[in-house]
Parts: sequence; structure tokens; C-alpha cells
Amino acid sequence: MCTECDFRTELFKRRILVDTGIDGLPARSGMFESVITGFDNLITSFGGGDHPEVMRFPPAMNRARFEKSGYMKSFPQLAGTIHAFNGTDKGHATLLDKLMGGEDWTDQQEATDVVLAPAACYPLYPTVAELGPLPDEGRLYDLQSYCFRREPSKDPARMQMFRMREYVRIGTPDQVTDFRQTWLDRGRELMSKLAVPFDVDVANDPFFGRAGRMLANNQRDQRLKFELLVPIESTEKPTACLSFNYHQDHFGTLWGIRTAKDEVAHTACVGFGMERVALALFKHHGFDTREWPAPVRKALWG
Ligand code: ATP
Ligand code: ZN
Repeated sequence: MCTECDFRTELFKRRILVDTGIDGLPARSGMFESVITGFDNLITSFGGGDHPEVMRFPPAMNRARFEKSGYMKSFPQLAGTIHAFNGTDKGHATLLDKLMGGEDWTDQQEATDVVLAPAACYPLYPTVAELGPLPDEGRLYDLQSYCFRREPSKDPARMQMFRMREYVRIGTPDQVTDFRQTWLDRGRELMSKLAVPFDVDVANDPFFGRAGRMLANNQRDQRLKFELLVPIESTEKPTACLSFNYHQDHFGTLWGIRTAKDEVAHTACVGFGMERVALALFKHHGFDTREWPAPVRKALWG
């Protein structure tokens, strides 16, 4: 375990991650990616038997749907939008002049109809609403996407673009809370196989501003979010590697998702921070995967 050394410096020195000059935007090495693949397969070995519908959204989403999701109300500080040049020859000349002159050229860019996905499940809900009422058994999805959050940091476990694998359950309150309990148990079992220290605790999302403090308190009081935390960058403040979220009827109401009995659907998701789990493994088992304990290697790669 890397205690004395600076974990981040070591990751870059050994080129497990490669610095690109922007905090939270490193390149991933082959060794790092092999851990991500192993962990991805381990997740499937726990969740695949439930026969979820597998969907892979691109890392950007429909801006109108993003606006309707309310993300800007809660997390304006994290969102990333995609802008592009949409001008004439004259505009192009202006842009190039500014660029060459070291001026701000980005005022020549216009917002497009796509934004970066902030979480793997955001693009899902409207596509489920389009299917009409849920079947009696509800629905279950398996998602994975690169997500963007504008939170640049020296902490290698806080990235601006990272992969989130998710299972999302949509159904009655009972179906959805059962799902979350199942995954709280499975999450512990799964991380035990990886032999890293962890704790599970109630948590809140980083809601913005003064109004956000109330939302965060409310989320905690109602125990709507749990996190599985592993010490990575610091032992005092362990890092959320898995999260277990119960949204109640928030997305069901927003998108008009109805159950078979024509009630508003409830939703829950379990999210796996792929890079964070990989980093937790490097932190606790060392920088060379060939030297990791045999049971951990077996859990990841069979
Ligand atoms: P945190 O409290 O650390 O900001 P979060 O509660 O906002 O995380 P979620 O919104 O629940 O995280 O996202 C699901 C999972 O995605 C988290 O459990 C975590 O593993 C991962 N994740 C979130 N933010 C980042 C990030 N900036 N870099 C890498 N992984 C992240
Ligand atoms: Zn989710």
C-alpha cells in the first residue's frame, strides 16, 4: 500500500495514468484499463443474472432533456455544455484573428443541442417514458457511460471525465427499495472480494448554494443516498466508490413514467465509479497488478 509516497505522483511517474496538462483529465494506461475491464466483468457477474436490458448511451445527451431534468437547478457548477462554431466566413476570420492574437475566441461559439452527460442514468428516463406504462415486474437497466463533471482537482479520484456503470430499477416503491437493499448487500460482497477497506454510510449529493444545503439535509434525513467509501487520497475523508440512490417518484413524475397499475413509477440506481475502484485497488494492492493478491486477481480476471 502506498502510504509514505504521494499516490498521485506515483501514478503519473509509473504512467498508470498520463497527465494531459488538465487536472482530472488523464489518459489511462493499458494496465489501468485492464483493471476497469476486470471490474466491469465482476459487476456483471453479480448483476447479469437479473437480466437487465443493456443500453450504452454516448457521453453526451439531448440538451432539451437535460434542461427538463432540473440538473441546472441542483448542480449548475458541475454541468458541461457543448458549443460549436456556426458562423460565416466573416465569423471564421474573426475567430482566427482572436485565436492568433491570444484573445478569447470562444465568444464565436454557440450552444449546440447536446450537453455532456452528468450521470449515466440521465439520458435513460425519457426513453423509458416513451415505452408507455411499465410491465407488472417493472424494468431494469444496465448502463455505462463516460460522465462529465466540472470539478477539477489534484485528487486523482476526482476526475472531470470518468466512467459510471449503473443498474437502474424502475417500478413500484417496493420493487425499487428491494433493489436498492439487494445492491447494498451485493456491493459489500463485491468489494470484499477486492480486499479493500470500506465503509457504507448515508450521503448527500453536492447540491449548489444555500437552497442546496436544505436539499442535502433532506436527502440525508430521508436516507435516500448511501455511499460505499474507500480511503484512497486520504484516510480522514474516504472516497465514494459506489453509490445507492433512491429517487422516490422524482424521475417518474418528471418524465411521466407510470406503473402497470397507473401509478407514478419510482426509481433507484446503483452507480459504480469505475476509475475510483481501479484507483482504490492500486492504492491498497500496489502499482503492479501482477503482484496483487491471488484472490483479487481471480475476482477480476478469473
Ligand atoms: P462525490 O460525493 O465524491 O462527489 P457523488 O456522490 O457526486 O460523488 P454520484 O453522483 O453518486 O457521486 O456518482 C456515482 C459514482 O460516480 C460515485 O459513487 C463515484 O464512484 C463516481 N464519481 C462521482 N464523481 C466522480 C469524479 N469526479 N471522478 C470519478 N468518479 C466519480
Ligand atoms: Zn443514477
